[in-house]
Amino acid sequence: MFFVQTACAERPKQNPREKYCIFWGYPDNYLDHQAEEAFAKIDEVLKGHKPSQKENLSREMALISLDMLLHDTRNDNTPIFRSFINKRMSDMLVELAKPVKKGVKVYKAYNDGFIIKSKTATIAIDLVPGGPGAQPFISDSVIYGIASLCDAMFISHAHGDHANLRIAKAFAAAGKTVIVPKGLWTGEDPNIKQLLVADSAVTVPFTELGMSLRILPGHQDDMYNNIYVMTFKDGTTVAHTGDQYNAEDLAWIDNVHKECKIDILLLNCWINDLERTVNGFGPKIIITGHENEMEHSIDHREAYWMTMHKYKNLKQPNVLMTWGESFAY
Ligand SMILES: [Zn+2]
Ligand SMILES: [Zn+2]
Repeated sequence: MFFVQTACAERPKQNPREKYCIFWGYPDNYLDHQAEEAFAKIDEVLKGHKPSQKENLSREMALISLDMLLHDTRNDNTPIFRSFINKRMSDMLVELAKPVKKGVKVYKAYNDGFIIKSKTATIAIDLVPGGPGAQPFISDSVIYGIASLCDAMFISHAHGDHANLRIAKAFAAAGKTVIVPKGLWTGEDPNIKQLLVADSAVTVPFTELGMSLRILPGHQDDMYNNIYVMTFKDGTTVAHTGDQYNAEDLAWIDNVHKECKIDILLLNCWINDLERTVNGFGPKIIITGHENEMEHSIDHREAYWMTMHKYKNLKQPNVLMTWGESFAY
Protein backbone atom coordinates (compact mmCIF):
# COMPACT_ATOMS: atom_id res chain seq x y z
CA MET A 1 0.00 0.00 0.00
CA PHE A 2 1.31 3.46 -0.91
CA PHE A 3 0.80 6.64 1.11
CA VAL A 4 0.51 9.72 -0.99
CA GLN A 5 1.83 12.84 0.77
CA THR A 6 -0.71 15.59 0.55
CA ALA A 7 0.43 19.22 0.31
CA CYS A 8 0.65 20.77 3.81
CA ALA A 9 -1.09 23.98 4.63
CA GLU A 10 1.27 26.94 3.99
CA ARG A 11 3.35 27.91 7.04
CA PRO A 12 2.16 31.23 8.52
CA LYS A 13 4.71 34.06 8.12
CA GLN A 14 4.13 35.20 11.70
CA ASN A 15 4.54 32.80 14.59
CA PRO A 16 0.93 32.13 15.72
CA ARG A 17 2.06 30.76 19.15
CA GLU A 18 4.43 33.60 20.02
CA LYS A 19 2.32 34.93 22.90
CA TYR A 20 2.52 31.53 24.62
CA CYS A 21 6.34 31.57 24.31
CA ILE A 22 6.31 28.64 21.92
CA PHE A 23 8.80 29.27 19.14
CA TRP A 24 8.85 25.86 17.38
CA GLY A 25 9.81 26.46 13.78
CA TYR A 26 10.64 30.16 14.36
CA PRO A 27 14.28 30.33 15.57
CA ASP A 28 14.80 34.02 14.61
CA ASN A 29 11.64 34.94 16.48
CA TYR A 30 13.00 33.07 19.52
CA LEU A 31 16.36 34.94 19.36
CA ASP A 32 14.61 38.32 19.11
CA HIS A 33 12.61 37.59 22.26
CA GLN A 34 15.69 36.35 24.07
CA ALA A 35 17.56 39.58 23.17
CA GLU A 36 14.61 41.71 24.31
CA GLU A 37 14.46 39.96 27.69
CA ALA A 38 18.24 40.19 28.10
CA PHE A 39 18.49 43.91 27.20
CA ALA A 40 15.71 44.68 29.71
CA LYS A 41 17.41 42.71 32.51
CA ILE A 42 20.80 44.30 31.77
CA ASP A 43 19.22 47.74 32.09
CA GLU A 44 17.61 46.72 35.40
CA VAL A 45 20.81 45.24 36.88
CA LEU A 46 22.90 48.29 35.87
CA LYS A 47 20.37 50.65 37.44
CA GLY A 48 20.61 48.68 40.69
CA HIS A 49 24.44 48.57 40.63
CA LYS A 50 25.81 52.01 39.75
CA PRO A 51 29.34 52.63 38.40
CA SER A 52 31.92 52.52 41.15
CA GLN A 53 35.66 52.37 41.74
CA LYS A 54 35.12 48.99 43.38
CA GLU A 55 34.57 45.75 41.51
CA ASN A 56 30.98 44.55 41.35
CA LEU A 57 30.27 41.07 40.04
CA SER A 58 26.65 41.86 39.09
CA ARG A 59 27.74 44.85 37.01
CA GLU A 60 30.50 42.84 35.37
CA MET A 61 28.08 40.07 34.43
CA ALA A 62 25.59 42.61 33.04
CA LEU A 63 28.31 44.26 30.93
CA ILE A 64 29.57 40.90 29.64
CA SER A 65 25.98 39.96 28.74
CA LEU A 66 25.76 43.27 26.87
CA ASP A 67 29.01 42.43 25.03
CA MET A 68 27.47 39.12 23.95
CA LEU A 69 24.36 40.82 22.55
CA LEU A 70 26.37 43.59 20.87
CA HIS A 71 28.80 41.15 19.26
CA ASP A 72 25.96 39.10 17.80
CA THR A 73 25.38 40.88 14.49
CA ARG A 74 21.80 39.58 14.34
CA ASN A 75 21.00 42.33 16.85
CA ASP A 76 22.70 45.10 14.83
CA ASN A 77 20.42 48.01 14.09
CA THR A 78 17.28 46.10 15.17
CA PRO A 79 14.33 47.85 16.84
CA ILE A 80 15.25 46.00 20.08
CA PHE A 81 18.80 47.43 20.05
CA ARG A 82 17.57 50.92 19.11
CA SER A 83 14.99 50.90 21.86
CA PHE A 84 17.64 49.82 24.43
CA ILE A 85 20.11 52.59 23.58
CA ASN A 86 17.41 55.27 23.24
CA LYS A 87 15.88 54.39 26.59
CA ARG A 88 19.26 54.58 28.28
CA MET A 89 20.07 57.91 26.63
CA SER A 90 16.67 59.43 27.39
CA ASP A 91 17.05 58.35 31.05
CA MET A 92 20.44 60.09 30.98
CA LEU A 93 18.81 63.25 29.61
CA VAL A 94 16.52 63.36 32.67
CA GLU A 95 19.52 62.97 35.02
CA LEU A 96 21.61 65.52 33.15
CA ALA A 97 19.00 68.22 33.77
CA LYS A 98 19.63 67.99 37.55
CA PRO A 99 22.17 70.47 38.98
CA VAL A 100 25.60 69.40 40.22
CA LYS A 101 26.34 71.10 43.55
CA LYS A 102 29.99 70.07 44.03
CA GLY A 103 32.75 68.34 42.08
CA VAL A 104 31.95 67.03 38.62
CA LYS A 105 29.64 64.38 37.25
CA VAL A 106 30.81 62.45 34.19
CA TYR A 107 28.15 60.99 31.88
CA LYS A 108 28.98 58.42 29.23
CA ALA A 109 27.17 58.79 25.91
CA TYR A 110 27.57 56.64 22.80
CA ASN A 111 31.07 55.48 21.78
CA ASP A 112 33.68 58.02 23.04
CA GLY A 113 31.12 60.72 23.82
CA PHE A 114 31.10 62.14 27.34
CA ILE A 115 29.33 65.00 29.12
CA ILE A 116 31.11 66.56 32.08
CA LYS A 117 28.90 68.62 34.32
CA SER A 118 30.11 70.93 37.09
CA LYS A 119 28.30 73.61 39.06
CA THR A 120 29.11 76.26 36.43
CA ALA A 121 29.74 74.42 33.15
CA THR A 122 28.42 71.45 31.21
CA ILE A 123 30.79 70.31 28.46
CA ALA A 124 30.08 67.74 25.73
CA ILE A 125 32.97 65.93 24.08
CA ASP A 126 32.67 63.92 20.86
CA LEU A 127 28.86 63.76 21.18
CA VAL A 128 27.46 61.76 18.23
CA PRO A 129 24.15 59.97 17.61
CA GLY A 130 25.84 56.82 16.21
CA GLY A 131 24.63 54.67 13.35
CA PRO A 132 24.18 55.48 9.69
CA GLY A 133 23.66 59.19 8.87
CA ALA A 134 20.12 58.76 7.57
CA GLN A 135 19.04 56.57 10.48
CA PRO A 136 21.07 57.43 13.61
CA PHE A 137 20.89 55.12 16.65
CA ILE A 138 19.92 57.92 19.04
CA SER A 139 16.83 59.82 18.02
CA ASP A 140 17.03 63.54 17.25
CA SER A 141 14.76 64.47 20.17
CA VAL A 142 17.10 62.78 22.67
CA ILE A 143 20.43 63.87 21.16
CA TYR A 144 19.31 67.48 20.69
CA GLY A 145 17.84 67.43 24.21
CA ILE A 146 21.30 66.45 25.53
CA ALA A 147 22.96 69.14 23.37
CA SER A 148 20.57 71.80 24.70
CA LEU A 149 21.75 71.11 28.28
CA CYS A 150 25.43 71.63 27.38
CA ASP A 151 27.33 74.93 27.28
CA ALA A 152 30.07 74.01 24.79
CA MET A 153 31.34 71.05 22.76
CA PHE A 154 34.89 69.91 22.05
CA ILE A 155 35.68 67.56 19.14
CA SER A 156 38.84 65.46 19.29
CA HIS A 157 39.30 64.59 15.61
CA ALA A 158 37.61 64.30 12.24
CA HIS A 159 36.37 60.68 12.31
CA GLY A 160 32.60 60.25 12.05
CA ASP A 161 32.33 58.27 15.30
CA HIS A 162 33.51 61.47 17.12
CA ALA A 163 32.58 64.42 14.91
CA ASN A 164 29.04 65.13 13.71
CA LEU A 165 28.52 68.40 11.86
CA ARG A 166 24.74 68.39 12.34
CA ILE A 167 25.16 68.40 16.14
CA ALA A 168 28.04 70.91 15.99
CA LYS A 169 25.83 73.26 13.97
CA ALA A 170 23.05 72.92 16.56
CA PHE A 171 25.52 74.02 19.27
CA ALA A 172 26.80 76.88 17.11
CA ALA A 173 23.30 78.06 16.21
CA ALA A 174 22.47 78.25 19.94
CA GLY A 175 25.49 80.56 20.41
CA LYS A 176 27.63 77.84 22.03
CA THR A 177 31.32 77.42 21.26
CA VAL A 178 32.47 74.27 19.46
CA ILE A 179 36.23 73.66 19.48
CA VAL A 180 37.58 71.39 16.75
CA PRO A 181 41.05 70.35 15.55
CA LYS A 182 42.87 72.14 12.76
CA GLY A 183 41.34 71.61 9.33
CA LEU A 184 37.90 70.36 10.44
CA TRP A 185 34.71 72.16 9.26
CA THR A 186 36.47 75.26 7.92
CA GLY A 187 34.11 78.20 7.36
CA GLU A 188 30.98 76.41 8.65
CA ASP A 189 30.11 78.82 11.49
CA PRO A 190 31.97 81.49 13.48
CA ASN A 191 31.11 79.61 16.69
CA ILE A 192 32.94 76.51 15.37
CA LYS A 193 36.54 77.35 16.25
CA GLN A 194 39.56 75.48 15.01
CA LEU A 195 42.61 75.04 17.14
CA LEU A 196 44.99 77.10 14.99
CA VAL A 197 48.29 76.02 16.47
CA ALA A 198 48.18 72.30 15.83
CA ASP A 199 51.65 71.24 16.91
CA SER A 200 51.97 72.78 20.36
CA ALA A 201 49.72 72.94 23.41
CA VAL A 202 47.43 75.96 23.85
CA THR A 203 45.40 77.27 26.77
CA VAL A 204 41.90 78.62 26.19
CA PRO A 205 40.35 80.52 29.11
CA PHE A 206 36.63 79.89 29.45
CA THR A 207 36.00 82.59 32.05
CA GLU A 208 32.29 82.78 31.15
CA LEU A 209 31.98 79.10 32.16
CA GLY A 210 34.32 79.39 35.14
CA MET A 211 36.82 76.90 33.71
CA SER A 212 40.01 76.69 31.71
CA LEU A 213 41.02 74.41 28.89
CA ARG A 214 44.44 73.14 27.90
CA ILE A 215 44.59 71.49 24.46
CA LEU A 216 47.40 69.01 23.83
CA PRO A 217 48.49 68.21 20.24
CA GLY A 218 47.73 64.49 19.93
CA HIS A 219 47.38 62.32 16.85
CA GLN A 220 45.60 59.19 15.69
CA ASP A 221 48.32 57.98 13.30
CA ASP A 222 48.82 61.14 11.16
CA MET A 223 45.45 62.76 11.90
CA TYR A 224 45.28 65.69 14.36
CA ASN A 225 43.62 64.50 17.56
CA ASN A 226 43.09 67.22 20.17
CA ILE A 227 43.45 66.04 23.76
CA TYR A 228 41.31 68.30 25.97
CA VAL A 229 42.37 68.91 29.57
CA MET A 230 39.55 70.74 31.36
CA THR A 231 39.95 72.35 34.77
CA PHE A 232 36.66 73.27 36.41
CA LYS A 233 36.01 76.01 38.94
CA ASP A 234 36.47 73.76 42.00
CA GLY A 235 39.88 72.63 40.64
CA THR A 236 38.82 69.21 39.34
CA THR A 237 40.69 68.37 36.13
CA VAL A 238 39.35 65.96 33.52
CA ALA A 239 41.21 64.95 30.34
CA HIS A 240 39.76 63.27 27.23
CA THR A 241 42.16 61.52 24.86
CA GLY A 242 39.95 61.14 21.76
CA ASP A 243 41.39 58.40 19.56
CA GLN A 244 45.00 59.03 20.61
CA TYR A 245 47.19 56.37 18.94
CA ASN A 246 50.68 57.48 17.97
CA ALA A 247 54.08 56.18 19.09
CA GLU A 248 55.98 59.50 18.61
CA ASP A 249 53.59 61.44 20.87
CA LEU A 250 54.52 59.16 23.79
CA ALA A 251 57.69 61.23 24.29
CA TRP A 252 55.65 64.29 25.44
CA ILE A 253 52.80 62.26 26.94
CA ASP A 254 55.40 60.91 29.40
CA ASN A 255 55.53 64.40 30.96
CA VAL A 256 51.87 65.50 30.96
CA HIS A 257 51.50 64.74 34.69
CA LYS A 258 54.21 67.34 35.45
CA GLU A 259 52.14 70.24 34.08
CA CYS A 260 48.55 68.95 34.54
CA LYS A 261 47.27 67.37 37.75
CA ILE A 262 44.59 65.15 36.24
CA ASP A 263 41.84 63.71 38.40
CA ILE A 264 39.90 61.78 35.74
CA LEU A 265 41.30 60.44 32.46
CA LEU A 266 38.67 59.63 29.82
CA LEU A 267 40.72 57.17 27.81
CA ASN A 268 40.03 55.35 24.53
CA CYS A 269 40.07 51.76 25.76
CA TRP A 270 42.32 50.46 22.95
CA ILE A 271 45.05 53.12 23.22
CA ASN A 272 48.60 52.07 22.28
CA ASP A 273 51.09 51.47 25.09
CA LEU A 274 48.43 51.58 27.80
CA GLU A 275 50.63 51.52 30.89
CA ARG A 276 53.06 54.16 29.60
CA THR A 277 50.20 56.45 28.50
CA VAL A 278 48.43 56.17 31.86
CA ASN A 279 51.70 56.85 33.72
CA GLY A 280 52.28 59.90 31.49
CA PHE A 281 48.89 61.41 32.31
CA GLY A 282 49.06 60.25 35.92
CA PRO A 283 45.30 60.43 36.68
CA LYS A 284 43.66 59.50 39.98
CA ILE A 285 41.01 57.44 38.16
CA ILE A 286 40.31 56.29 34.61
CA ILE A 287 36.98 56.08 32.79
CA THR A 288 37.40 54.23 29.51
CA GLY A 289 35.43 55.01 26.36
CA HIS A 290 35.01 53.64 22.83
CA GLU A 291 33.82 50.17 23.81
CA ASN A 292 31.22 48.63 21.51
CA GLU A 293 31.48 51.05 18.59
CA MET A 294 28.77 49.37 16.52
CA GLU A 295 30.05 50.65 13.16
CA HIS A 296 33.12 48.42 13.57
CA SER A 297 33.19 44.72 12.75
CA ILE A 298 32.96 42.61 15.91
CA ASP A 299 36.73 42.07 16.20
CA HIS A 300 37.17 45.84 16.81
CA ARG A 301 34.00 46.47 18.84
CA GLU A 302 36.17 46.33 21.97
CA ALA A 303 34.13 44.43 24.52
CA TYR A 304 33.68 45.56 28.12
CA TRP A 305 35.17 42.24 29.23
CA MET A 306 38.34 43.11 27.26
CA THR A 307 38.62 46.45 29.07
CA MET A 308 38.14 44.65 32.42
CA HIS A 309 40.88 42.22 31.44
CA LYS A 310 43.37 44.85 30.15
CA TYR A 311 42.89 47.38 32.96
CA LYS A 312 42.75 45.13 36.01
CA ASN A 313 46.48 45.37 36.79
CA LEU A 314 46.86 49.17 36.51
CA LYS A 315 47.37 51.01 39.79
CA GLN A 316 44.51 53.45 39.01
CA PRO A 317 40.92 52.15 39.17
CA ASN A 318 38.89 52.16 35.95
CA VAL A 319 35.28 53.15 36.53
CA LEU A 320 33.80 51.11 33.69
CA MET A 321 30.53 52.52 32.39
CA THR A 322 28.14 51.92 29.52
CA TRP A 323 25.79 54.21 27.59
CA GLY A 324 23.80 56.59 29.75
CA GLU A 325 25.64 55.92 33.01
CA SER A 326 27.28 58.54 35.20
CA PHE A 327 29.88 58.83 37.94
CA ALA A 328 30.05 61.65 40.50
CA TYR A 329 33.55 62.73 41.53
ZN1 LIG B 1 39.38 58.01 15.08
ZN1 LIG C 1 36.96 56.49 17.20
